[in-house]
Amino acid sequence: MPTSMPTPPPSADGLGVPAMARRTVALLNALAQEAGSEHPPSPSAVAEVLREHGEPGPVELSAHDVEEMSAAAVSLREVFTADDVDLAASRLNRLLARSTGRLRLTSHAGTTPWHPHLDSADDAPWGEWFLASSCLALAVLIWDGRRPPGGHCASPGCPHVYLAHGSGPTTRRYCSRRCATRERVAAHRRARARR
Ligand SMILES: [Zn+2]
Repeated sequence: MPTSMPTPPPSADGLGVPAMARRTVALLNALAQEAGSEHPPSPSAVAEVLREHGEPGPVELSAHDVEEMSAAAVSLREVFTADDVDLAASRLNRLLARSTGRLRLTSHAGTTPWHPHLDSADDAPWGEWFLASSCLALAVLIWDGRRPPGGHCASPGCPHVYLAHGSGPTTRRYCSRRCATRERVAAHRRARARR
């Protein structure tokens, strides 16, 4: 018997669910407004994230597409700020009820294996596609992991989210080593100042 884990079958857009979830997080973080920043990310920056996560190029995004994706990101972020799986599931259910279409299968006219989509059509606008594909991935993560799909960075002012890793409850608090280090240094300074 093989000892390695079986490779998961290709899922939406030929990606497996973990890759879809990583794409969701990368887009959420690219679309997140840093505290104090007034400018949304440029369409080319968002297109680059899509290409990095397997979207076949060239990817043409308009400023309006980025606006709609940013609106979707605000809703999706609520699933990551839920502290327990019940709240994450109920927030995701609200999005599934209000904002996505019915589950359907597509092969993108024979160019990919059949896989599920929740958007209304293969040529749906980017904002609709982003929300629907993210909801699908997050639903599977909650189903499979029996815990919130991820969390939000505990560093004040950092708008980034992250995925839960490994099995069991996640103990992760920061989006990156950079945020973890910054907070450790700040805590150290506060402790010294109290002495
Ligand atoms: Zn952070």
